[in-house]
Amino acid sequence: MTREEKRARKTELQRQRRAANPEKAREATRAWQAANRETMRECRRRYRAKNPKQSIEHNRKWYAANREKTIARVRRWQAAHPNPEKKREYDRKRHAANPVKARARAREWQASHPAQSRERVRKWIAANPERFREGARKRARRWQTANPEKMRKSCLQWKTANPEACRAYAANRRALNKGAEGQHTAFDIAALWKAQDGKCAACRGTLPVAGKHRYHVDHIVALSKGGSNWPKNIQLLCPRCNLSKHNRDFTEWARIINPAGI
Ligand SMILES: [Zn+2]
Repeated sequence: MTREEKRARKTELQRQRRAANPEKAREATRAWQAANRETMRECRRRYRAKNPKQSIEHNRKWYAANREKTIARVRRWQAAHPNPEKKREYDRKRHAANPVKARARAREWQASHPAQSRERVRKWIAANPERFREGARKRARRWQTANPEKMRKSCLQWKTANPEACRAYAANRRALNKGAEGQHTAFDIAALWKAQDGKCAACRGTLPVAGKHRYHVDHIVALSKGGSNWPKNIQLLCPRCNLSKHNRDFTEWARIINPAGI
């Protein structure tokens, strides 16, 4: 028997043995591979170098057939080798390549991770307050344009619930129309009220709170004379004093009602 014949016979015997007990044969192969990992790796490397096309095709097929497994393995590897810079770059490219798909993916993730999603949003807002405000303004405008009826209703509700803020808003609009600079809020008026102890800045009489004859918000230097609409140019007067002052400068008016300066 020649050497080739001997080898062929041995191979044939092995084949038969494997066919007779495939489970045992597979187990033996696995055990051999586990015991000879270096050799296995070297074999694979040599095969890949010799058959690059087949190798790539084989990998592609394997990934397609074991998608879940592959993803899990990649995730494990990423968790063990964090590289946020590289991941961001990858995400950016992936997003640019198919923004529609990327948005759908993001929505899916948000729906399945509500708590993490909220936390992420919170962090982003804290890091980008200006961009967040700008986005919120845009969204609000879009909603207002799309829901004019609801908008009118909620506006009315807000006005009824916030008369002071409403007055401040109207005053700011008037000042803006007169070309005056500055603005004040209902909080500024409340602070003034506290500072003046609820009394008229001129006659020190108690300021009327409600009704037709309530206190007036007065510009110390009239807007028509170049006064600003900032809180520092504002005082609260009783209606009587304010109507008597009209649009005179406060010091000028004070001289008129109290020429001796007492
Ligand atoms: Zn007064």
